[in-house]
Amino acid sequence: MPSSELKLAKELIRCPSVTPKDAGALNVLAKNLRSLGFKCQLINFKNIKNLYAKLGKSSPNFCYAGHTDVVPPGNIKEWSVDPFKPSIINNKLIGRGANDMKASIACFIAAVSKFKTKNKKFKGSISLLITGDEEGIAINGTKKLVKYLKKKREKINFCIVGEPTNPNRLGEMIKIGRRGSITGRLNIIGTQGHVAYPHDAKNPAPVMVKILNNIENIKLDKGTKNFQPSNLEIVKMNIENTADNVIPAEASATFNIRFNNKHSSNSLKKKLNNIFQKACKKSKCSFKISYMVSGEAFITVPNNTTKMIQNTIKKITKIKPKLSTSGGTSDARFIRKISPCVEFGLVGKTMHKVDEAVSISDLKKLTNIYKNILANNFK
Ligand SMILES: [Zn+2]
Repeated sequence: MPSSELKLAKELIRCPSVTPKDAGALNVLAKNLRSLGFKCQLINFKNIKNLYAKLGKSSPNFCYAGHTDVVPPGNIKEWSVDPFKPSIINNKLIGRGANDMKASIACFIAAVSKFKTKNKKFKGSISLLITGDEEGIAINGTKKLVKYLKKKREKINFCIVGEPTNPNRLGEMIKIGRRGSITGRLNIIGTQGHVAYPHDAKNPAPVMVKILNNIENIKLDKGTKNFQPSNLEIVKMNIENTADNVIPAEASATFNIRFNNKHSSNSLKKKLNNIFQKACKKSKCSFKISYMVSGEAFITVPNNTTKMIQNTIKKITKIKPKLSTSGGTSDARFIRKISPCVEFGLVGKTMHKVDEAVSISDLKKLTNIYKNILANNFK
């Protein structure tokens, strides 16, 4: 018999799986899933452990996706309990990963167990796609797992990602997409010289100031029906210079853009490179730019399953969840390449914080929600 959601959540929190360490977390899941009849494949990419587990062989395949790695606890002295010793205080389970997202995985597994007891011969299959590499650079996790499944022609018909999507109360928010994210690292290269002889040097500093002012003032868009406006933030500026009478040779800056589906990383690169080129041509400086794209903007257009999930959540929580694309990136950006997918999990208020916690009643409710989603999906 598999564990209840609380017992399993505690068992997972006890594994100090600070990204990219697994610390036994995926074996805890595999053990519980096998006892429910799942076939478990533990798949390693480099030093990262991943799990694909499946119950049943037929179609449709309903998938749950998530991660067992957690962010570091930070200053342990600030915690009121040991972050890797699950504690219950005032009806709250406290520990690192309590809402992001070990307890959510525990709820889904408990939901499958309850669903299976009532529906021994359901038509279709249930799968779990769990990685140990979400909170870090995330290159050996879901991204590769999705490629692997595609190669094996594994079909997923719908996927729910169990990330904490609710800002304050369980039931408030389903995520149906995410904005894209691109980081640019810009270097302006001039010629070093004496400040009293500027005609013999090329100062990259004013060029950088001008460029940053220009990109800061680009009006990217006003947002769309489903997305908030895109925004560009300058996050680093640097000139290495130890003297006050030397014009520096180089200036650097880093910026990040969160963009909606009115743009792609390529359209943004083109726009920005134009600005850099113009500014450098005038000043006779040169530039180097390197971009890192974490993900493009995407949306899963709400279909019948999305509506069913929305109605199921409303029935149990008495709140009609908003369909949103807010927040940072998530692994949904990889999964949407093989399956329509939405995100729904716990309340994320304390995620990544000290004393990360989840209410015990939310755990029961989320299990009930997942169970009813399964029941409605296979009806
Ligand atoms: Zn997470």
